[in-house]
Amino acid sequence: MCRLFCVFSAASLFLTSCQSSTRNDAPKTVDEANPIQIVVTTSMIADLAAVIGAPFVDVKGLMGPNVDPHLYKASEGDVRLMTGADLVLYSGLHLEGKMVDIFEQMEQRGQKVYALTNALAPEDLRESALFVGNHDPHVWFDVTLWAKVAKRVGELLIEYDPSHAEQYTANLEAYLLQLEELNSWIYTEIERIPENRRVLVTSHDAFGYFGRRYGMEVRGLQGLSTASEAGTADVQNLATFVADRKIPSMFVEASISPRGIEAVLAAVRDRGFEVQIGGTLYGDALGSPGTNADSYLGMVRENVRLIADGLIGEQ
Ligand SMILES: [Zn+2]
Repeated sequence: MCRLFCVFSAASLFLTSCQSSTRNDAPKTVDEANPIQIVVTTSMIADLAAVIGAPFVDVKGLMGPNVDPHLYKASEGDVRLMTGADLVLYSGLHLEGKMVDIFEQMEQRGQKVYALTNALAPEDLRESALFVGNHDPHVWFDVTLWAKVAKRVGELLIEYDPSHAEQYTANLEAYLLQLEELNSWIYTEIERIPENRRVLVTSHDAFGYFGRRYGMEVRGLQGLSTASEAGTADVQNLATFVADRKIPSMFVEASISPRGIEAVLAAVRDRGFEVQIGGTLYGDALGSPGTNADSYLGMVRENVRLIADGLIGEQ
């Protein structure tokens, strides 16, 4: 309870300190020299907003490459950026678990703050076994769900700036085609993996939607959030599973310490089965600029390549 209260107080303090900046809610004239100022949380959303809004948006992402959104706390500078923005876009479903109070307060103050996963229908969402009544927030690894989120971004941009509706619609349609292509490519890649090896063992449960859509069993060591650490029993249970099923590769994640999966690796080898680390997957953040995973499309492609290569193994 104290923790909740402290977070709440910190958020109030930040917002109070920003109250002097008066908001001008009259719609502004948007053009390339005066783009819509958008502040977003994750790098996946930053990529999406920049693609759909080009060239009339200036997107600032709070969480850079390889940052863990479950643990991210907004700085005073972040709150100032959000308060000064025309639109604030975040993922929602408690992905940004330490920022919930800040979003709520901004919304109450009349700021345009949107949780993009609100665009998804209840049947799109996976229940969370960990928190009753909550849903798995990692929707982006089902490309068809990310397409719905992309459409929502398009709607929000058109609502804010109807004068460029045609441009936003054209950007969106072009991007939806790329997403469709990506979606079919993933099915083809996963089908290359022998059926009994279509099991994805990773640091935390970021790939539940991926598994549901593309037909893979998913075992995460840490559960849906990285906020709680895995215990010895979790490590031993997962090791027994990997050894029994003879899963050739497990995966670590770029935004999470590899220690947990390394402990599982040692425990599997103790059971006499030679498992490998198949590589580092991008879970909750894009890769650094200049890498193959610095866009959403690239991130998903990189992951799927690693998964297929790691699990096909010797036939
Ligand atoms: Zn996560």
